[in-house]
Amino acid sequence: MDKTAIQKIIDILQKEYDISGYSNRGNAYEVLVGTVLSQRTKDEVTWPRNKELMKKANTPEKMLELSEKEIAKIIYPVGFYNQKAKKIKELSRILVEKYGGKVPRGREELMRLPGVGGKTADCVLCFAFNEGVIPVDVHVEVIAKRLGIADWKDKPEVVRKKLHQFVPKDKRNSINALFVEHGKRVCTTRRAYCERCSVVKYCPKIMKK
Ligand code: SF4
Repeated sequence: MDKTAIQKIIDILQKEYDISGYSNRGNAYEVLVGTVLSQRTKDEVTWPRNKELMKKANTPEKMLELSEKEIAKIIYPVGFYNQKAKKIKELSRILVEKYGGKVPRGREELMRLPGVGGKTADCVLCFAFNEGVIPVDVHVEVIAKRLGIADWKDKPEVVRKKLHQFVPKDKRNSINALFVEHGKRVCTTRRAYCERCSVVKYCPKIMKK
């Protein structure tokens, strides 16, 4: 895999998948809360519930007016809805008290919020702030490894670092969405359907599981 090949792969996947929905998930607060909700929950469940929640409280200040019970009721059936309701209240309180109700743009600051790890912080930076970072979820991780960009033993933070070295900053914002779409349909975590893969020509296929 070389840098020209990754560019070809991006071009092909961009023609194949409509990823406009990923950048239309709302402002930084909406993306932050929605990404916390999305942990261990399918997108199809997460984002409609997040939309309903945002109708009631689309700022940290308004969220603090809701009880944890009310939040849990709105986000149900998102997985771990009670724990997530608690985290959303806590992080909203910190945003109000420490950041004047705004979502910080720094990865380290984001990662200090309850329920926010590296992937969630990167989703906010990528989809809300257009910062040119690549959130590494399971699809991104598996595809990066099958493409030979990362090694099978690499942890997500190492995969992220290698992807960032490999993909130019102005192309990074689309990688997560493209790999997630490809990972749901073709290069799935359980099996790689190489026989119907549009980028097979550029895939080294040396690390496939
Ligand atoms: S050729 Fe196979 S391993 Fe490579 S990206 Fe396509 S489906 Fe995945």
